[in-house]
Amino acid sequence: MNIRTSLPLILFTIALLLVHAGCTQQADTEKERKAIFIIVDGISADILESVDTPNIDRIIEQGAYTRGWLGGKAGRYSQSPTVSAVGYNHVITGVWSNKHNVYDNDIEAPNYYYWNIFRLFKYNYPEKPVAIYSSWLDNRTKLAGDGLPEAGNIHIDIHFDGFDVDTLAFPHDYGYVQKIDDHVSNMAAQSIKADAPYLSWVYIWYPDDTGHRYGEVEEHFESIKVADEQVGRIWDAVQYRMENYNEDWLLMITTDHGRRLPDGSGHGGQSERERTIWIVSGKADMNRFFHVGHPPVTSIYQTVSRFLDLDVPESLKKELDGIPLIGEVSISDADAFLNEDGQTIDLSWTAWEDDGYVRIHLTTTNEFREGGEDTYQLISEVPLSEGRASLDIRDIESDFFKIVLKAKHNTVNNWVVISGDEPGD
Ligand SMILES: [Zn+2]
Repeated sequence: MNIRTSLPLILFTIALLLVHAGCTQQADTEKERKAIFIIVDGISADILESVDTPNIDRIIEQGAYTRGWLGGKAGRYSQSPTVSAVGYNHVITGVWSNKHNVYDNDIEAPNYYYWNIFRLFKYNYPEKPVAIYSSWLDNRTKLAGDGLPEAGNIHIDIHFDGFDVDTLAFPHDYGYVQKIDDHVSNMAAQSIKADAPYLSWVYIWYPDDTGHRYGEVEEHFESIKVADEQVGRIWDAVQYRMENYNEDWLLMITTDHGRRLPDGSGHGGQSERERTIWIVSGKADMNRFFHVGHPPVTSIYQTVSRFLDLDVPESLKKELDGIPLIGEVSISDADAFLNEDGQTIDLSWTAWEDDGYVRIHLTTTNEFREGGEDTYQLISEVPLSEGRASLDIRDIESDFFKIVLKAKHNTVNNWVVISGDEPGD
């Protein structure tokens, strides 16, 4: 081949290849990312796994399923009741009750300094719409803090909710909870197709209602099948968006608590079964921590924020109690105990990478809880793979330690509360 004639051809071929590569890349980066999470109230993991749920199954077939947990550290500073509103707030704030301060369904004084996912989203994208579809009004007005100055004055742009208190449209007669959920899921599906909000929360109530009324018997199983149909409706709407628009959606489904044995009618305590939950993802490329790490439900916050590429303020990052379930993870399961000698704190963690380091930061204040900033000291830097470290605290006069472990791909934290009330109480 003559070099004179072939050079332009080679250059042309290279140019074509570059243009082609550019196009594929562009098509991917241009896809608008959107996220939706569904909380289906009060379904124990083993029950979900045994009941016939064809719609959830087809999501898992394309995506992934795992069991997880909630309730904070049992018997310790972050123990959180396995109660509904508490569970929802773990999902939307990514922290346990010792931080978000919701311990029951009254939701009297949520601590909004731990920004919920809607506020974090609006901090990044003030103009992009978010949505809540829910029977309970409180989910928007109290937990998300729609329009409250103390919750950052954010607005939930699209909402279909409050049907729990709309006794005119939904008189509290036989089967009304199911009717409300049907309405909520229909509105959600319609709105997702038409409005396609960037971040949505759908709440489904009926399985918890039957659980309380009957226990984990046929009526409860039937209500799960009904919820499955409603979830399917929402998934169809999401798929409609992905097929017809240049959008990439993350769908996550979870529950707010398991149920207490032997009959499953109650919940609220710290038994293993009440603390065990499940997580469904519409995405197949979940990370290893999702599959084998037994993730806390607080992880959904960081999964959604990572998927949507949200910028998380550094001070907030240090407080989050979950682990991202997509992308790379370095560290999880941090724990800290004061040694009997009272002079050292023993730290441990699980390493998800072979190399890299953990930077251990420590503060004895908890200003974050009051809306302030804590000043951390870098105490030590140790190889991640060691999985443990010992901190000499002889020279530090305090009965409260907030410890942050920063590794390459994520950050975890742990408190040591030696005695008395936690700071801020
Ligand atoms: Zn519940």
